[in-house]
Amino acid sequence: MEEQLQLGFMETELQEPQKQSPYADFDLPALATDAAACTKCPLHETRNSVVFGVGNTGADLMFIGEAPGADEDRQGEPFVGRAGQLLTQIIESGMRLKRGDVYIANVLKCRPPGNRNPESDEVETCSPYLVRQIELIQPKVIVALGSFAAQMMLGTKVGITKLRGEFHECKVDGLQVPPHKKPPVVMPTYHPAYLLRNPNAKRDVWEDIKKVLAFLAEGTG
Ligand code: SF4
Repeated sequence: MEEQLQLGFMETELQEPQKQSPYADFDLPALATDAAACTKCPLHETRNSVVFGVGNTGADLMFIGEAPGADEDRQGEPFVGRAGQLLTQIIESGMRLKRGDVYIANVLKCRPPGNRNPESDEVETCSPYLVRQIELIQPKVIVALGSFAAQMMLGTKVGITKLRGEFHECKVDGLQVPPHKKPPVVMPTYHPAYLLRNPNAKRDVWEDIKKVLAFLAEGTG
């Protein structure tokens, strides 16, 4: 992917057509049912729950984090621990929306043991679920929470500090966008877990969120 990006437009034209997603014909309930029984990567051995995603399936705004933690693994819902409560506060007190107005998911649907970083083969195996979720929900804006989600959405290795604060074109591998639709834009920002350790960064996140609100208010998506 990185290599493809560097080769640029001429080479892009010569690429093979994109592989059809294994879930191209799945709607969200079918996708969730498939994920709930998934044993495609070793994380299924240690999980308690498959944490698929939650919220408004027609949302203009989607938040994407890295992977479930211990609370999420126990409850089967993304962002319900301390970091999740902070995300809910951002959505409800900051954005004046309800948590149920947006859609919230993670790149990985199962918890990496001890909250270790996801392995690249786990991401490769699991990402078709997220890609299909994005295709079905068709958000106008994706807020990518933290380096990991941002790098996956943008097909880059650049760190979150450099990425945050600006809208980027969504370059997640394999995403199919209907011809009459624009692909979602991506606003990378800090993960709420980072904010718990670095409260001063809340100011930056609020600046990013204000840009998202302005974008949605303009209806430019
Ligand atoms: S992390 Fe994804 S690919 Fe791995 S078992 Fe869970 S749902 Fe399946």
